[in-house]
Amino acid sequence: MTMQRPLIAGNWKMHKTPQETEEFIVEFLPKLEGVEGIEVLIIPPFTSLDRAGSLLHGKSLRLGTQDMHYEAEGAFTGAISARMLKACGCSYVLVGHSERRELFHDDDTIVARKLNAVLDADLMPILCVGETLSEHDRVEEKITRQLTQDLAGIDGKVLAKMTIAYEPIWAIGTGKTATPEVAQETISMIRAWIASHYDSATAQATRVLYGGSVKPANAELLLAQPDIDGALVGGASLVAEAFGQIVDAARLQ
Ligand code: PEP
Repeated sequence: MTMQRPLIAGNWKMHKTPQETEEFIVEFLPKLEGVEGIEVLIIPPFTSLDRAGSLLHGKSLRLGTQDMHYEAEGAFTGAISARMLKACGCSYVLVGHSERRELFHDDDTIVARKLNAVLDADLMPILCVGETLSEHDRVEEKITRQLTQDLAGIDGKVLAKMTIAYEPIWAIGTGKTATPEVAQETISMIRAWIASHYDSATAQATRVLYGGSVKPANAELLLAQPDIDGALVGGASLVAEAFGQIVDAARLQ
């Protein structure tokens, strides 16, 4: 890991009712006792945020959201604004998750607008980038294009406080994890891109996570890679025991 505080984030996708969210939090919070120097985040669906925010008030477990509209308010049926999310206690926002890009047509223009709106609202974005299986042999080209378009106009000082998640789409929800070496290699390429477009201090300061079938059995080796600053976890974050074991793997680093 580089010098920044690692982040273990759980993206729940379209899972859990408010009641199930409460049950998870009640079971999970004791597992964070004594955990220091690691940020831990859950990212439930919109309908669970208000309940989660009330339960997490004053607690170290952070709350994030899977998406956010870039407009402040108005006639945008089905959309949720920064002010609504902040009122629920959210501090993080996923931006450009591959499922949003692929299933909901969030292209790089929309991703860039959302990223700017998140930053303008003083929320912390986690910008997700990654390639499909058929793009894997041109991974650098794909990720370079996403970074160039999504980060257009973003200042180095802002980027240095941001989090990027490298998530190979072929590894999300498939049980196929990138090997620690492949994850390390791609994340080191992301840092090299930041160093060449900004500077090496920014490249070192930006927090970069790996995501894609992270589970208790593989977390330790992935998190041991020098450029990996944490994990974005999908399926394994739905079970308090498994998510707690991934947090424990981060403590061993
Ligand atoms: C994700 O949703 O970002 C993810 C990485 O999912 P999973 O861990 O289930 O592959």
